Amino acid sequence: MNYRHAFHAGNFADVVKHIVLMLCIEYLKKKPAPFAVLDTHAGAGRYRLDASEATRTGEWRDGIGRICGPDATELPAEITRLIAPYLDIIRAENSRGDLRNYPGSPVIVQSLLRAGDRLTANELHPDDFKLLKAVMKDDKSVRTTSMDGYTALKANLPPKERRGLVIVDPPFEEPGELIRLTDGLSEALKRFATGTMLLWYPIKDPKPVLRFKKAVAAVTTTAKIDPALEVEFYLRPPRNPTLLNGAGLLVINPPYTLAADMAAILTALVPRLGASPDAEFSVAPLASVPLERKK
Ligand code: SAM
Repeated sequence: MNYRHAFHAGNFADVVKHIVLMLCIEYLKKKPAPFAVLDTHAGAGRYRLDASEATRTGEWRDGIGRICGPDATELPAEITRLIAPYLDIIRAENSRGDLRNYPGSPVIVQSLLRAGDRLTANELHPDDFKLLKAVMKDDKSVRTTSMDGYTALKANLPPKERRGLVIVDPPFEEPGELIRLTDGLSEALKRFATGTMLLWYPIKDPKPVLRFKKAVAAVTTTAKIDPALEVEFYLRPPRNPTLLNGAGLLVINPPYTLAADMAAILTALVPRLGASPDAEFSVAPLASVPLERKK
C-alpha cells in the first residue's frame, strides 16, 4: 500500500469526481427521508495543498487551482450555480481567498449531510486512517472503519435506511482492480439494488477500460436495472497508455438530472482542466452490451 492521495488531492480527477459526488448527494436530499453514504476507500479526509506531497506533484494547480485559485477564470453563472455546494465546501475549508486545503470525499459528504443522514468512511492505510479519524473527530453522524474496501461494501449493505449512495474509489496500485470493482458492484447490487453507486477508474490504456464497461453493463443487465451513466473526462486523447490521460466514473442508479448537469459542467471545465486542445468529455448511458466471454 504505497498510494497516498495527498500527492494527487485536488487534481482534475478529484474535481470531476467530487462534483459528481456532490450532485448525487444533493439529489438524495430532495426527499426528507434520511440516507446513508458508504465511502469504501475514503483517504485521509483533508489535504494541505502546501504540504510537500502536494507541492511535489503540483497536480492540484491544474485541477482545483484552475477553478478556485488566484489565476482561475470566472465560470459561467449557470455553472457556478450548479456546483455552488462544492464551491461552498472549498471556501469553508479555506480562509478568505486562500487555497491551502482541499477536502477529500468524506469531508465533502460530511459537509452535505443533514441531521439524521449518516456516513461510513472506510480507509485501510493506517496512517491515512489515523488522519481520517482525527478529521472526523466525534461527529456522531460519521463512523470511521479500517478494513478492506470490498469487505466494507459487504459489511455495510444494505443500509438500514434503504436509501443512499456508495462511492468506491480504489488506488489502482495492484493489477486486477477493475475486476475487483466489477465483482464488488455485483455483490453490492445483490444487497442494495436501488442504491446509487459511484465507481471511479483511471484512463490510461482505453482497452481494459472498455472491457470493464462491458462487464459493468452485463452486471446491470443481470440485476435488471437501468444502464449506468458514464462520465469521462479526457485531458488528452489516450494515445500514450503510460500517462493518466483521463478519468471516469460509472454511476449506477444515477439521479435523472445528472447527465444534463454534468454535460453542462464539463463543457465549462474542458477548456480549464484540459491538457491539450483535444481534451474532451463524455456523458452517456452505458449500452447494455453483454460481457464477451472467450471459450
Ligand atoms: N476517496 C478519496 C477522495 O476522493 O478524497 C480518495 C481515495 S484514494 C484514491 C484511495 C484510498 O484507498 C487511499 O487512501 C488508500 O490508502 C486506500 N486503500 C488502499 N487499499 C485499500 C483497501 N484494500 N481497502 C480500503 N482502502 C484502501
